[in-house]
Amino acid sequence: MKESVTILDKTFVKFISSDEIDKAIATLAEKIDSEYINDDPILLITLNGAVFFAVDLLKNLNIKCKITCVKVSSYSGTESTGKINDLIGLNDNVKGKRVIILEDIVDTGRTYKHLHDMLKDAGAKDIRIATMTMKPEAYKGDLPIHYVGLNIPNKFVIGRGLDYDGYGRNLNDIYQLKQN
Ligand code: 5GP
Repeated sequence: MKESVTILDKTFVKFISSDEIDKAIATLAEKIDSEYINDDPILLITLNGAVFFAVDLLKNLNIKCKITCVKVSSYSGTESTGKINDLIGLNDNVKGKRVIILEDIVDTGRTYKHLHDMLKDAGAKDIRIATMTMKPEAYKGDLPIHYVGLNIPNKFVIGRGLDYDGYGRNLNDIYQLKQN
């Protein structure tokens, strides 16, 4: 793992190794496997960031399941805009199904709430979330976060699907914005 990486105008320092992330994802998969044995859930992947986590999680999952994708955006640079745009909506029928939202990170929880309401309106039977990382200090929501890989401090991170202005998603480890 490199000590630091520079992307555009910002430097990021090493934070969580890929080994630690892999272990956390494997533990999540075990839990989901044991709790969805006979359920045939739909895993909802939020593009673009959660793709990396979703692939890693799915490789570890043994249950019967389907996937579907939506695309939302709320971040600009290192700041949340507070407004969520639906770029690609829900295309599959989730009526009566158990759905697990897959997220790369839960920050304020606005995106989760938005996706939760969308799934509820579409008639999902049960909605849970599995997130690779979560910032508990930033979370402002009331909805429970069911499966968390790693809790992290309230600082901007990149890697494993998480980007800075579109770059850095392909870093295998997670890096944190360097404080000036
Ligand atoms: P929320 O709606 O929970 O505030 O934010 C969720 C979305 O914001 C995530 O899916 C992600 O796209 C973005 N986000 C929040 N915190 C970070 C962060 O530390 N790094 C990056 N790269 N994106 C973040």
